[in-house]
Amino acid sequence: MAIATINPATGERLCQYPELTEREIDEKLDIAHRAAQIWRKTPIEERTRVVRRAGELLEQRSIEYGRLMTLEMGKPIRAAIDEAKKCATACYYFADHAAEFLTDEKVDAKDERSYIAFEPLGVVLAVMPWNFPFWQVIRFAAPALAAGNVGLLKHASNVPQCALAIEQLFEEAGAPGGVFQTLLIGSQPVAQILADDRVAAATLTGSEGAGSSVASIAGKHIKKTVLELGGSDPFVVMASADFDAAVKTAVAARAINNGQSCIAAKRFIVAEAIADRFTDAFVERMRALVVGDPMSERTNIGPLATEQIRRDLHDQVTRAVAAGATLRLGGRARDGDGFFYEPTVLTDLSSESPVMREETFGPLAAIVRARDLDHAIEIANDSRFGLGAAAWTRDEDEIDGFSRGLAAGVIVINGMVASDPRFPFGGVKKSGYGRELSAFGIREFVNIKTVRVMQPETAKAAAAE
Ligand code: NAP
Repeated sequence: MAIATINPATGERLCQYPELTEREIDEKLDIAHRAAQIWRKTPIEERTRVVRRAGELLEQRSIEYGRLMTLEMGKPIRAAIDEAKKCATACYYFADHAAEFLTDEKVDAKDERSYIAFEPLGVVLAVMPWNFPFWQVIRFAAPALAAGNVGLLKHASNVPQCALAIEQLFEEAGAPGGVFQTLLIGSQPVAQILADDRVAAATLTGSEGAGSSVASIAGKHIKKTVLELGGSDPFVVMASADFDAAVKTAVAARAINNGQSCIAAKRFIVAEAIADRFTDAFVERMRALVVGDPMSERTNIGPLATEQIRRDLHDQVTRAVAAGATLRLGGRARDGDGFFYEPTVLTDLSSESPVMREETFGPLAAIVRARDLDHAIEIANDSRFGLGAAAWTRDEDEIDGFSRGLAAGVIVINGMVASDPRFPFGGVKKSGYGRELSAFGIREFVNIKTVRVMQPETAKAAAAE
């Protein structure tokens, strides 16, 4: 895939970048490796000062960065500006809390000075997706840099300008040279970079295939990985739910980011008693979404990010209908320029339907019916993925049932799944492993080091035990 900006709203290729040569990659690895030796010894107050400054710049430049995101991958401009602001909050959060999360932990051991220290691993390779081109990178970089690691970003090939803007952001925030670098490369050189001794660990946010490939290569070289992969999040609505709020939130949860979010609600599981009413109301709200120019503040749904994504989505719709699904809305690409797809709703789906089994990346909702709590949980958990899950109910037993019974990394009751710097974020099953954000996230890329300073007499006694 060429490293290029192609405006998905028009299909126009705006610019293209040459890939780094092997020699250029090697130079950047050297720079990163050297920077890591210095950055790890830089006091945490200085490291968090850089992260805070990055947050301030993100906030000040939210419109500029927002326009860049919309230009390269087509999300509605309002959401893009909000994404830049959310990045700022994550920077502030880790600037405020990193020192506390990484403070030595004392261990109460007799006659010893014992503690657990959290030390940086070194150079971390971050392979990132285009769908939240700033947020995915910042939520890795803010804690990683605060912890004393050095970042190497291999961003998705269709968002090179965002990738370069983030590199410049950290430079302007005061990060010393080499602490955060962008590598303009495709996926092919990733294997060689992972094998390199100068790289300590890797994180990947993206598809199952990419995650499996990166993790297996990293595993071969005994390197830690965090994987944030796909999702097919369930959104359950029970009879006791606040109906209007549930319908409104359900549509927002499906439409977010033009439907291209790992934690977008994709499978809507509705109690039989309200299923017809819910489906009618949901279809009407999906129909009312404004599809169009993502630079317009009025737009709810912009284009899909690439022609291929639109083709894949339409293929899923076609296969689902061929297998017996009812098309309640949409189901076709928009005529004209750009990669637009109509908001689409499918019903009458078997558990084997492609839209129930595969991740759907676009404005495509699948609605199915559930008899009761247990049946809803059974359908929700019948997925290879386990990233997020939402359930709407006012019944206390059902709240407890869903909270404990849904198999996912993030459960939200009476709301929609969203990441928040204060809470760990990540999945189970094929949605990946490891966590980002919160104290758990910052500790993914540290050496959790046990230190025991014993009195010689104690050591003798311990050895005799
Ligand atoms: P993708 O095709 O897997 O690409 C993600 C990144 O991986 C890109 O930088 C891509 O580079 C690279 N890549 C692809 N194949 C690779 C390989 N074999 N070896 C090394 N690198 C490889 O995914 P995407 O289409 O950009 O993003 C959508 C996916 O990301 C969805 O499945 C979505 O659910 C998931 N996602 C998950 C989360 C989460 O937090 N769990 C968040 C956002 C997105 P190129 O662009 O050069 O191919």
